[in-house]
Amino acid sequence: MTERPHVLLLGGTSDARRLAAELSSAEARLRVTSSLAGRVTHPRLPAGEVRVGGFGGVSGLVDWLRAHRVAAIVDATHPFAAVMSRNAALAAAETGTPLLALRRPAWTSGPGDRWHEVDTPAEAAALLPQLGRRVFVTTGRGDLAAFTAAPELWYLIRSVDPPEPTDLPPHHELLLARGPFDLAAERETLRRHRIDVLLTKNSGGPATSPKLLAAREAGIPVVLRRRPATPPGVPEVPDVPGALHWLDCQLSH
Ligand code: NAP
Repeated sequence: MTERPHVLLLGGTSDARRLAAELSSAEARLRVTSSLAGRVTHPRLPAGEVRVGGFGGVSGLVDWLRAHRVAAIVDATHPFAAVMSRNAALAAAETGTPLLALRRPAWTSGPGDRWHEVDTPAEAAALLPQLGRRVFVTTGRGDLAAFTAAPELWYLIRSVDPPEPTDLPPHHELLLARGPFDLAAERETLRRHRIDVLLTKNSGGPATSPKLLAAREAGIPVVLRRRPATPPGVPEVPDVPGALHWLDCQLSH
């Protein structure tokens, strides 16, 4: 019997879970392993085989790809997981493994939006005091340390797991919650906490976009982190059907 082609699916997103579900139900001819970083205490697990934890940099990933005879990689990590995406590109090049990036489209501003786009948490922290006093932060735990630069502001910090206590600004409230969040709930969060500026990053996708609509309706400015670029030379698709098509083309011969 011939071995089924092995696909490594770098995950941690709802698109990665959707792709894993499609592949495990329809593609008995493939072996699929989803990989999670292990950051979240109780992750939503994808269908099928799952491994958890870092690979140990580019060399660790190269070893893993070889040891597990991986035929193709789909990088369906979050658009801001830039280190993993870069490592995947380098390891794919070194081993000659085909690599695809599955990236949901970025959000774009519309009439009535008051967006201020920045590249780094430090840039965001420098801008915030000019825009408001009560900040709703939905950038994830990694960016919080930058807000020591604006300690006079009050922050409502929403994250899935609690941030490191040392990263928290002096005036804050924690909101431990996992999306999706609907428009009514986001309106209520802005109103109840008298938010006057929203800080977020351009994750894209429908699960967390209602906060942007709620901010537009309320005339609240938004500081939005731009996405890091996908590593050069890596083909990109915006959705699960695109990834299924690419896998079909890569593995059908
Ligand atoms: P990152 O900064 O790009 O990666 C840091 C290190 O974490 C990588 O070098 C790798 O360790 C490990 N890692 C990351 N993703 C992995 C995966 N899918 N499988 C195995 N190891 C992984 O990543 P991050 O921004 O911390 O994100 C971590 C995970 O959370 C990702 O899977 C991402 O999809 C998910 N996520 C991230 C965000 C975000 O805003 N960044 C939001 C939602 C979900 P080694 O070098 O040891 O291999």
